[in-house]
Amino acid sequence: MKKQYEFLNLATVNAPFMPEIEKAIGRVLASGRFVGGPETVAFERALAAQTGTEYAVGVSNGLDALRLIFRAYIALGRLKPGDEVIVPANTYIASVLAVTDAGLKPVLADCSRETMNLTAEGLREALTARTRAVLTVHLYGRAAWGAEMDAIARAHGLIVVEDNAQAIGATSPEGKATGALGDAAAFSFYPTKNIGALGDAGAVTTSDFALAEAVRALANYGSRERYKNIYAGFNCRLDPIQAAVLGVKLPHLEEEGRRRREVAEVYLSEICNPAIELPQKPEKGKHVWHQFVVRTAQPEWRDAFRAYLADEGVDTDIHYPTPPHRQECYRRQFAGESYPEAEALSATAVSLPISGCTSTADAREIAAIINRFTPPQP
Ligand SMILES: *Cc1c(COP(=O)(O)O)cnc(C)c1O
Repeated sequence: MKKQYEFLNLATVNAPFMPEIEKAIGRVLASGRFVGGPETVAFERALAAQTGTEYAVGVSNGLDALRLIFRAYIALGRLKPGDEVIVPANTYIASVLAVTDAGLKPVLADCSRETMNLTAEGLREALTARTRAVLTVHLYGRAAWGAEMDAIARAHGLIVVEDNAQAIGATSPEGKATGALGDAAAFSFYPTKNIGALGDAGAVTTSDFALAEAVRALANYGSRERYKNIYAGFNCRLDPIQAAVLGVKLPHLEEEGRRRREVAEVYLSEICNPAIELPQKPEKGKHVWHQFVVRTAQPEWRDAFRAYLADEGVDTDIHYPTPPHRQECYRRQFAGESYPEAEALSATAVSLPISGCTSTADAREIAAIINRFTPPQP
């Protein structure tokens, strides 16, 4: 039988941590504290320290982290329904869902071909007199914020929110951690993320005390003090069992990023096929390669490329086959709008296996398999 190269195997990813995870979960079980408690507090402190922000608030998942940030800005009177928020056109749908959920207006900015992310140019083009915030998404693990974009945002008085679901551990060109680049950041610890829980989990980081307090209260029925509700809130708290799991995995963040960069380096230096375009690594700053996204030179070649790889035992995925503005749920929201770079990417992207347990030997073999691909003749 042919060797199989799995896209991602979470049992393998988590195996080295299991003895410690079992101990950590055991502590929660013995404590009898199943909401809040010391494991949650300890994880929040560790995350704030890792990110370099004053506060971290553990929440239920990444989408809720984003929703709570926008709802908190509204509760504080710093945003109001109808305000425009710039969001990259190439993102996972959750980024846009959080904006519309809060009654804000998402204004999409096309991605750049080089970074597949928001750039200063895209930000400038999407600006209007009604822009009040920007939600930058560090997609695929690449920081999508730097000095130039920051200067634009400051000049226009924009609130800067980061969707850091895919880039925990990455740094900007200036060397600052994602999650501390804007006014507030959302993290996801969905099991497949670089630091994944054993279920849903998320967090908000910020150095703004009022915002941290508003997010925390909104995630707890809108209450700071029991039976006193200042906001009409939700229940979006972090499960302490997941906090305990994350407390075991977070200290290994640097190593996770380093191993992913090693795999990415092999792909970047060894894949050489005119039919396949490689992603660019940033000149400065740490990329954490949540996904390694290549593109077929022609959209018509993608199915053949994936079928060829599957036949050779290499599992792949597509991030993402349909951009948010082309989704059924947003047919009216973005009617008639077109974002050519995001659309081209969605038609040509193929994600290769990459994780903390992809070996460099496997990456070399995958590269060699890719180099033998010949596109279908018309
Ligand atoms: C995973 C992800 C989210 C959502 O996080 P969940 O924890 O799954 O709710 C949001 N944005 C991006 C870019 C993501 O990759």
